[in-house]
Amino acid sequence: MIDFHAHLGRMYREDYPQRLPMSPHQMVDYMNRHGIAVSVLLPLESPEGTWGYFLTEDAIAARDLYPERFVAFCGVDPRYPRVKEFIDFHVRHSGCRGFGEHVNGLRFDDPLNKVIYAACDEHALPLVFGDDLGCYDEPGLPRLEACLKEFTNVQFCGHGPGFWSAISADDDRKTAYPKTKITPGGTLDRLLEKYDNLYCDLSAMSGYNAMSRDPDFTMGFIGRHWRKLLWGTDYLTGFQEIPQHEWLSGLPVCPEIRQAIAEGNARTLLKWPTRS
Ligand SMILES: [Zn+2]
Repeated sequence: MIDFHAHLGRMYREDYPQRLPMSPHQMVDYMNRHGIAVSVLLPLESPEGTWGYFLTEDAIAARDLYPERFVAFCGVDPRYPRVKEFIDFHVRHSGCRGFGEHVNGLRFDDPLNKVIYAACDEHALPLVFGDDLGCYDEPGLPRLEACLKEFTNVQFCGHGPGFWSAISADDDRKTAYPKTKITPGGTLDRLLEKYDNLYCDLSAMSGYNAMSRDPDFTMGFIGRHWRKLLWGTDYLTGFQEIPQHEWLSGLPVCPEIRQAIAEGNARTLLKWPTRS
């Protein structure tokens, strides 16, 4: 199993010591207890990401401690002055296999964000982004769609309440975790069908809520898009509840689909083949 979405470090500075920083060793211990072979470490370098920072250099250092267990992505705030040089350097010299978690206070298609997408396009990277309500885009995700068209070599992997809200055609964005039935014909179905470079990151409460709020709809959604779904946790602090474990093990799908969601799709994006 591959966790496509994990963080280390002190993510809740003001909550210390109630919420403790996560070390690489603690993360590997968690992975061992839950059958996770590899976790993708996603830096958070923007102040809007969470109440702390997880730097690219720390993700690389953790990967170097456990090279068989961690994949390091690079991440940088779009307002940083040398964004392209930063991405080029860490892809070429640090072995970073993707970009993210991309979450900041700008619009999704802000010119500063597009500098990031252009660099990722050049390196053909997966990019994990988090879309909170009212932050990046509007209903219908027009800004995301424009970028899917413009940066076709980037594999955009979306998550967060703003992204998953678009699974339903009645995308009113009033609540982060809606419990109502999903109205068919949502933007996500349309975009996943139309664009090869869009993927869904199932991590965090937003991913779990989207997959559990309407089980009848979900089975159809999985049937249509299982090659583009990526299992993940958004694990970032000790004792965090991760309902995605039980969700995946109880999912009534064939072994091929379960394997693709748990690991196969991630391996393809990460260019990380299974050892023979
Ligand atoms: Zn995250």
